[in-house]
Amino acid sequence: MKDLRELYKTMEIDEDVYSYCMDRLRGLKERFDAIDENAEYNQLKVLKAFRECRVSEACFTTSSGYGYNDLGRDTLEEVYAGIFHTEDALVRPQITCGTHALNVALSSNLRPGDELLSPVGKPYDTLEEVIGIRPSKGSLAEYGVSYSQVDLLPDGDFDYDGIEKAINDKTRLVTIQRSKGYQTRPTLSVKRIGELISFIKKIKPDVTCMVDNCYGEFVERTEPSDVGADMVVGSLIKNPGGGLAPVGGYIAGKKKCIEQAAYRLTSPGLGKEVGASLNVIRSFYQGLFLAPGVTASALKGAVFAANVFEGLGYKVLPDGTESRHDIIQAVTLGSPEAVISFCKGIQYGSPVDSFVTPQPWAMPGYDADVIMAAGAFISGSSIELSADGPIKEPYAVYFQGGLTFPHAKYGIMRAMQQLKNDGLIVL
Ligand SMILES: *Cc1c(COP(=O)(O)O)cnc(C)c1O
Repeated sequence: MKDLRELYKTMEIDEDVYSYCMDRLRGLKERFDAIDENAEYNQLKVLKAFRECRVSEACFTTSSGYGYNDLGRDTLEEVYAGIFHTEDALVRPQITCGTHALNVALSSNLRPGDELLSPVGKPYDTLEEVIGIRPSKGSLAEYGVSYSQVDLLPDGDFDYDGIEKAINDKTRLVTIQRSKGYQTRPTLSVKRIGELISFIKKIKPDVTCMVDNCYGEFVERTEPSDVGADMVVGSLIKNPGGGLAPVGGYIAGKKKCIEQAAYRLTSPGLGKEVGASLNVIRSFYQGLFLAPGVTASALKGAVFAANVFEGLGYKVLPDGTESRHDIIQAVTLGSPEAVISFCKGIQYGSPVDSFVTPQPWAMPGYDADVIMAAGAFISGSSIELSADGPIKEPYAVYFQGGLTFPHAKYGIMRAMQQLKNDGLIVL
């Protein structure tokens, strides 16, 4: 049984679903070539940093306890700074997730009486409690940091007038979210982020500009830190961990920002000097090395999914032809049943826990029930093929990841198949 179509059939993909998807795939060759070229650029950028920082086998030995003089940890932080072209970086397994990294970056670089501004609308759901938009213990609001927000204009443009008006004496830090998160606005390109930062710095040069870089790393050839961001922040169980990092987050940026962050993460006076790299340091290096290629696989999966579901009549964001600035694909399915069905398909197509059925639940940090499909090697890793959807209007799923393109492709076919099985689409 060497025929691919036959093998797909034994893996629950019907002939008509297979043919439909293959038709869609045929038109994507040029886009995939461009993604590969981009991966090549970023692979060389990463390799260059590894070489310049003289990464050696000694970097993979781990430390314990305080972790003083941890060569692997310190060198890895230099490598990150090399890739992001920043003065310094903080990359640690002690940073538990992306929200934690953002919280450390924000809370350490703000002081009571300061104001935080988001000029790109509402931030990612979990940041609402960090900032205190939704009241929470220990939020920035509780520490006397105020917050103001300027929404994007209806056409997705920056509201430059509104932003200018919102910047005041108290404005200390501006947070810019690159990815759309659980919203249906466009993701910001690095170029647009650069334009926004220039505008803001013209009005107030000493303001700190932080970019939530989650899901954006290695999608383009430049990063927000190349266009004026003082800090870029992200999660290692997304793009830069390459699927291998089992935990962690990073903050790369200006020396003074990173120092503040390190003093907050560990302790005043200790900063970057402590923090054992435990047994995960090799996976941080190896995952970072693989990250450009893995991100490319995820991007191809996203482009393929957009084309498959657009063709079925669903609203997809970005659409099938648009340029990409993160790995997320939103598909508006329009009903709770379809969101659940899609997620079931992704789950059944996973290498781990393929036999379980995901259910919506009240996840910490989110204000609606969320269903997540994640048959991942690393719990919750969303650089691995995964889909999640809040059970609320407009009933969109956010699909991302795929350590290899063939797996992303199968998962998308399996999701479509599930919609068919559940009577939600007719071919
Ligand atoms: C994932 C994500 C976060 C939060 O990261 P967690 O690791 O889930 O805590 C923040 N912002 C954006 C845009 C994200 O995609």
